[in-house]
Amino acid sequence: MRPLKRSGEIFERASKIVPGGVNSPVRAFKAVGGAPPIIRSAKGARLTDVDGNQYLDFLGSWGPMILGHSHPEVVAAIQEAAERGTSYGASTELELLLAEKICTFFPSVECVRLVSSGTEATMSALRLARGFTGRPMVVKFDGCYHGHVDSLLVKAGSGVATLGIPGTPGIPAEFTAHTVSVPFNDLSALEAVFERHAGKIAAVILEPVPANMGIVPPVSGFLEGVLTLAEKNGSLAIFDEVITGFRLALGGAQEKYGLSAPLTCLGKIVGGGLPIGAYGGKREIMKMIAPEGPVYQAGTLSGNPLAVTAGLKTLEILEREKPYERLEKLTQRLAGGLADQAQQAGVALQVQHCASLLTPFFARSLVKNFDDALDADTTRFASFFRGMLNAGVYLAPSQFEAIFISMAHTQADIDDVVSKAGEVFRKLGK
Ligand SMILES: *Cc1c(COP(=O)(O)O)cnc(C)c1O
Repeated sequence: MRPLKRSGEIFERASKIVPGGVNSPVRAFKAVGGAPPIIRSAKGARLTDVDGNQYLDFLGSWGPMILGHSHPEVVAAIQEAAERGTSYGASTELELLLAEKICTFFPSVECVRLVSSGTEATMSALRLARGFTGRPMVVKFDGCYHGHVDSLLVKAGSGVATLGIPGTPGIPAEFTAHTVSVPFNDLSALEAVFERHAGKIAAVILEPVPANMGIVPPVSGFLEGVLTLAEKNGSLAIFDEVITGFRLALGGAQEKYGLSAPLTCLGKIVGGGLPIGAYGGKREIMKMIAPEGPVYQAGTLSGNPLAVTAGLKTLEILEREKPYERLEKLTQRLAGGLADQAQQAGVALQVQHCASLLTPFFARSLVKNFDDALDADTTRFASFFRGMLNAGVYLAPSQFEAIFISMAHTQADIDDVVSKAGEVFRKLGK
């Protein structure tokens, strides 16, 4: 690899006028050390930095790039859309087409509102749940991340976990006083909360397959249990499918597990690499949203024609190519390869995966919840990450995130990563 000379210069200049040099915390590589490469371009499964280094990319922009980067059909669609104008502040047919696609793939979504990010989707869904039920409280799960919504930044995963921040200053205690966080995969903890706060809980929000504490699949019966308990207690379950939507299946975790949530949040893939989020669900709940109902939510760039075009084209390609079986096979191959290599090198590794999401936890036993995840050896992860980056493989720069396999990855790419990981493990094992 060439030295990160130009990257270092740019990062240093940025650090003077942008907090931490980055526009989203995890990009700064704080948990793994070293200056981050500054990216110039991306194509297929590969990123190129400003120093001319190429990386096999397993970050996929943290989830959206399931087709790989710069898919020619998506690029052409965006170019064509841009010629017709980039924003009108008035409705387009494209928005209707995307809404129809979402409702087709997610039968539980009878009515949907487009916003501009995943954070906006969860924030709005929560407001709606509170408006609909007339109740104040929300239950979330330790290690799940739902964007940087004030009341949801309690025991949150992703960058909050990566930087080891328990909560965050700037959020008055009153704002999180109505939030309760319980361990994932623990139905009795949820049941106890419903008993303690009977009649007060508006919503239970969760990542059906948490990806923001690393991949932690739900144990059998857990998701069903959450839906049943919420319904029994008159609260709304909100499935945050910002990562899992169009990733585990076209219809996300709900399709994969045969479930139906009253409210669903989407983001990432639904924008095909441009900024979109969406929230939707049962018609009787969604009709509370303004202008049909009194719960206010709005956005200047909501349903932006470029973003909607990129999303629509991405969903069209996923529908046509049906890549899910192939993606899962590649992921299983990667999981098996990493586990073998780690074992041969004497490195304790738990490879956890679901569909095309995977996390190698440097842990001795299965990771079932956030406490287990926090037991993983993050120092070892950091060494592994740097070893892989030096070998030209770009992973998420944190133990508490996922590897994303895309349609642009080939079996040869996977085998290449496995053999590089083997070399890095052997150095770690010493
Ligand atoms: C990324 C993410 C969000 C937030 O989406 P942004 O577009 O970053 O605001 C919310 N929920 C989950 C599960 C996510 O992974």
